[in-house]
Amino acid sequence: MENGCNGRILRVNLSDSSIMVEEPEEDFYRTYFGGWGFVAYYLLKEVAPEVEPLSPENKLIFALGPVTGAPIGGSGRNAIGAKSPLGLFGEADVGGFWGAELKRAGYDAIIIEGKAQKPVYLWIHDMEAEIRDATDLWGRTTAESQEMIRQELGDDNIRTAQIGVAGENMVCYACIINDLKHAAGRCGIGAVMGSKKLKAVACRGHNLPEIADSQAVREIRRWLAENYKEKSGNLAKYGSGVDLKGSSDSGGLPTHNFRDGVFEGAERISAETVMESIGVGMEGCYACPIRCKKVVEVKKPYKVDPIYGGPEYETLASLGSCCGIDDAKAVAKGHELCNAYSLDTISTGVSIAFAMECYEKGLLTKEDTDGLELNFGNAAAMVELIELIAHRKGFGDLVAEGVKRMSERIGQNSEAFAVHTKGQEVPMHDPRARSPELGMSYVMSPTGADHVHTNLWSMFKNCATMCIYLPYDQEQMRDIVNAVTGWNLSIEEMQKVGERAMDMARAFNALLGLTAEDDQTAPRFATGFTFGPREGQHIDLEELSEAKQEYYQRMEWDEHLAVPTREKLEELEIGWVAGKLAEYNKLP
Ligand code: SF4
Repeated sequence: MENGCNGRILRVNLSDSSIMVEEPEEDFYRTYFGGWGFVAYYLLKEVAPEVEPLSPENKLIFALGPVTGAPIGGSGRNAIGAKSPLGLFGEADVGGFWGAELKRAGYDAIIIEGKAQKPVYLWIHDMEAEIRDATDLWGRTTAESQEMIRQELGDDNIRTAQIGVAGENMVCYACIINDLKHAAGRCGIGAVMGSKKLKAVACRGHNLPEIADSQAVREIRRWLAENYKEKSGNLAKYGSGVDLKGSSDSGGLPTHNFRDGVFEGAERISAETVMESIGVGMEGCYACPIRCKKVVEVKKPYKVDPIYGGPEYETLASLGSCCGIDDAKAVAKGHELCNAYSLDTISTGVSIAFAMECYEKGLLTKEDTDGLELNFGNAAAMVELIELIAHRKGFGDLVAEGVKRMSERIGQNSEAFAVHTKGQEVPMHDPRARSPELGMSYVMSPTGADHVHTNLWSMFKNCATMCIYLPYDQEQMRDIVNAVTGWNLSIEEMQKVGERAMDMARAFNALLGLTAEDDQTAPRFATGFTFGPREGQHIDLEELSEAKQEYYQRMEWDEHLAVPTREKLEELEIGWVAGKLAEYNKLP
C-alpha cells in the first residue's frame, strides 16, 4: 500500500498470546474498503455459524477505512464488529480520536481471537503490539482505567477504546467507548470484548500513511472550513437534539416507550436547554471543525463529570422522553454512567422504558424491581436502574438482557410493546413519523434496527469510515477517497462498495438461519400514536409486505431467503460468498 492505508492488519490471539501481522494486497482494500466491509469479510470467512457470540471462537474486529486519520473533517471514525450477543451480524461505528491513532500506530484493522485467562489490555504503539496485564483495571470505570493506562505507560496522549463493568459483565447491549465519550454503541459488541477479558486497546503512533494528493485534500478542507457553519446549521452550536421540541410538536418524538409521539417536557431536555443550563463547552472528533459534541457538568443533585462529554440526541430521547423524563440533569447523569460503564444509551433507555411500561401495566411489581417505583418519569429510578444493569445486580440482571429477552421472560403479551427489530432496540426515530426509507431500513438492517445504515450511500460512508454529519456530496466523497488513496474510484464503484458490504452481512445472517420472516417491524409501530397531530398514524402491515417485496427485487435478493443470488454476488465480484451460502444450502 502506498497511500491512505498502512497495508498491515494485526491479528491477536488472546488464548495463546500470539500476535501476527498480515499484509493484504491493495485489491483487498479496494474491494472491501474498511469499516463494515472488513467486519463482514472476516466474520463470513472466519466465524462459523455455530459459534456462540460470547465464546472464544467469536472474533472482535476493529476496522479503520481508507480515510481514517486523513487530515480532513469526518475522518476520525472506526468500526467494530463481531457476531453480536443477539446472534446476528454485529457492527457499530464510532468517532473520536482512537481510529486516527491506530492508523498512526501502523495498522488498518485488528482481529481479536480467543479469550485471555485473566484481564488484559492491548498496547499498540508505532508498529509494535503487546498484551499487558489488566487485572487492576478490571471493575474500573472507563475514566479510571484510561488514567491508569496512561500513567503505567507514561504518556498522556494515549488513546483508548475500552469497556467498563457493563462490558465485563457481558450486558447484552454493552458498548465500547473511545476516549471516554465516543460510543461504538450498537449490537452489544462491548459484551464480546468482555467475554474475551479484553479491557482496552490503547494506541499511540506518530506516522500517518502518505496522502496521494495533499493539495486536493487541502482544497476540500478549505471548502469545509468556509461552508460547514451554513451547511451544518445548529449542529456546531448545540450538537444533535436541536429539533427535539419540533419532533414532539409534530407528534413524532419517541415518548413513553414509543406509545406516544408528543412529550410535554420536550423543551426541558432539548439540546438548546441542555447547553444553556448545564453545558460547559463543545468538543469534536479528530480533524473536524464542526465540533458537535456537547460537554456538560452538573454539581447537584447529581454530580456529572465533564470528562465523559454530554448527551447527544439519541441519549436525550432514550433516557429522556422515551422514559417520560424531562429532567436534563438526570439524563446527563444517565449518560455519564453509560459512558463510565460502557452501555449503549439507546438500548439502555429503551430497555428501561419497556420495564416502565410493564410496571405501569402491572406486569412487574415492586417485588420484581427490587423496590424501584418504575413509573414513567421517575428520573431517580432510571439512574438507579442503570447502576443495577451495568453490575447485573438483582432486577438489573433481567433488564441487562434487552427488551426481546425481557419480554420472552415476562410474557403476558408484553412482546406487543417490546420495541426492537431482530432483537435490537429501536433508535430514537419513530418510523411512523419519519420517511418510509427509514422504516424499511429498520426492518432490513442485518444488525437489527439502526438509524445510520439507511441506504447504500450511508453504507459506503461507513466502509470509508466517514462521519455521516459531514456535508460532503457524492462527488466530494469520491474526490476525498481518491485524493487520499490515489485510486481512481467512480461513483458507481462507491455504490458497489456499499452494496457489497450490505450483501455480505445479509449472507452472514442467512448462514445463521435468518430468512425474510425475520425482516419485521416492531408490533408497536403497527398500532397508531395515542394522541397528538399524528394520532392513529401507524405502519400498515400489508403495505409493508409489498414494500419488502419491492426492496428484495431492487436489491436482487431472493424473497424467501432474503439474500443475494449467485449472479448478483458475482456481479459484485464476491462470488466466494455464493460458495459459502451453497455450502450451507442457503444459496437461492
Ligand atoms: S460532525 Fe460531530 S460527530 Fe462528526 S466528525 Fe465532526 S465532531 Fe465528530
